[in-house]
Amino acid sequence: MLTLIKNGEVYGPDYLGKQDILLAGNKIAMIEKNIPIPQGLETKVIDASGKKVVPGFIDSHVHLLGGGGEGGFKTRTPEITLTDITKGGVTTVVGCLGTDGFTRDMKSLVAKTRGLEEEGISAYCYTGSYQVPVRTTTGSIQEDLILIDKIIGVGEIALSDHRSSQPTVAELERLTAEARVGGILSGKAGVVNIHLGSGKRALQYLEEIIDNTEIPPTQFLPTHMNRDEDLFQKALAYGKKGGLMDFTTSTTKKFLAEGEPKCSTALLRALKAGIKLEQITFSSDGQGSLPDFDEHGNYIGLQVGKVTSLYDEVRDAVLNEELELATALAVITVNPAKILKLKSKGEIKKGHDGDLVILEDESLEIDTVIAMGRVMIENKEILVKGTFED
Ligand code: ZN
Repeated sequence: MLTLIKNGEVYGPDYLGKQDILLAGNKIAMIEKNIPIPQGLETKVIDASGKKVVPGFIDSHVHLLGGGGEGGFKTRTPEITLTDITKGGVTTVVGCLGTDGFTRDMKSLVAKTRGLEEEGISAYCYTGSYQVPVRTTTGSIQEDLILIDKIIGVGEIALSDHRSSQPTVAELERLTAEARVGGILSGKAGVVNIHLGSGKRALQYLEEIIDNTEIPPTQFLPTHMNRDEDLFQKALAYGKKGGLMDFTTSTTKKFLAEGEPKCSTALLRALKAGIKLEQITFSSDGQGSLPDFDEHGNYIGLQVGKVTSLYDEVRDAVLNEELELATALAVITVNPAKILKLKSKGEIKKGHDGDLVILEDESLEIDTVIAMGRVMIENKEILVKGTFED
């Protein structure tokens, strides 16, 4: 099956001008001006005149099985559906477990990951949950990375949080070393995705390991770095020493009112502070619960995070903060692809996977979503639904 996208302004995510893109099967076969419609072959033609064509988005932190449970069993959030993901222009997800790595486990997460791939998008996962020691699939972090294709890292390990398993620095150091070696042996990233709470130790664990071992800062992908102003400031200092920073797009009005830096502004502020663009990523924390605690740590309410928040923040960064589209897009395309070593993702390039999003010109609204060469959403109409979606 061939798909030809004509006359779009292509951002790969850097601006490539007006180009046609030919998809053959699940790959990008050609990017050129005026590609003729191939004769004698069934070809779907999409007219992208007056629109922008960008890489499919990568969301590096999604609770695919649902998360939560922090207010008792009835507060476990539901599993994600295919269109919860594709509606947000996301064509690659990385799944994780959260606080509850007990009633949800790695076998279910790997199965869910494979299920989403069968439904048409690209999906991976981290091994583990908040907890240390990590409850793996095979019995070891290295073997999970080496033997299970879908597992590309470890996480999300909770630190500086009252829900953390309160590991010692030495325990985290060991775990990270295992992730690094497993990654090296399997050709995967082997990153350790770190959930940061609002505790006063903040990034101390990571700084100690980076300062005292040979492990490079890029081994950690710490998330929720925009949780509050205090952590954001510490994230900037950490970034100046080469650390990566992931900002979480799912939030609530209350959190923002309490001073959580909104992702779109956090991106602008981090760049102005001298952090390199390639160090910054966004993820949605989609389908996770957004638990609210009082000052004593008692649970008082719950919402569900949305994958669609990922691109909403990129769009806000362009429309409200006046960042270049290519700059804003990098945090959900080329940057996570490089950090997670997803070699055929994140850029519009010949030979890369056929993951594309077509945006309206002025509003930058998502118009069409293509995953692995298959049109999932066209002109805002959902063409492909998940197995059990109505
Ligand atoms: Zn988290």
